[in-house]
Amino acid sequence: MRQRIVAGNWKMHKNAEETEDLLNELIQAIPTDCETRVIVAPTFINLAAAADHLEFTNIEVAAQNMHQAEGGAFTGEISANMLKSVGVSTVILGHSERRAYFHETDALLANKVDTALKHEMEVIFCFGEELKDRLNGNHFNVVENQLRDGLFHLNAAAWKNIILAYEPVWAIGTGETATPEQAQEMHEFIRNTINKNYGNAVSENVSILYGGSVKPDNAAEIFSKPDVDGGLIGGAALKSEDFTKIVLA
Ligand code: PGA
Repeated sequence: MRQRIVAGNWKMHKNAEETEDLLNELIQAIPTDCETRVIVAPTFINLAAAADHLEFTNIEVAAQNMHQAEGGAFTGEISANMLKSVGVSTVILGHSERRAYFHETDALLANKVDTALKHEMEVIFCFGEELKDRLNGNHFNVVENQLRDGLFHLNAAAWKNIILAYEPVWAIGTGETATPEQAQEMHEFIRNTINKNYGNAVSENVSILYGGSVKPDNAAEIFSKPDVDGGLIGGAALKSEDFTKIVLA
């Protein structure tokens, strides 16, 4: 019933030529009848070209970030309207690197989510605990607070445009993955938390992706868990062979 999704977050990798090359490889490699939704998020500067390039394919594009304002004197920033105008209607918000290095808080992210939804964009909302939270046994609280402060102001109808990406910070780019059991345990907690606030219709339909060192050799087991609906992939999204294996897993 809910969508299975694999999204590749390219972060600050791939120049224009490399972007085109990787897109061409993915177009070749990903079967046209693929049942999983496939999304890639190149850097802003290559996004318009990527959206053009992928227009008649089954691969979608997303932005890695967006500003919450409609426009104005915000040097270096990109608005929802600008993204929409080049054919991008999905945006990743709240990635742990944005939270850690660019000081994005849940309150700011709630604003960004509102702006994106106002523009009828789809949001891949990232959240997840840090290592210290897990060691303290505080991980469920942290995740619940992130959901509450970032998303629980939304009404039930708005959730059709929300995709969740649980990414434990200690597993991102570290080679250390949550075990499939840890992922399932948290995904189930997330779904139950949403259920308490919004009921079954929302909680059963929202896709919850796992992110953090997903690789071709661990993807199938993680994705086999009942509350894991796919993945948000960083490092392994940069090679078409690896990313395709993950999509097919
Ligand atoms: P990783 O990154 O797959 O390289 O751990 C995941 C992410 O940051 O979304």
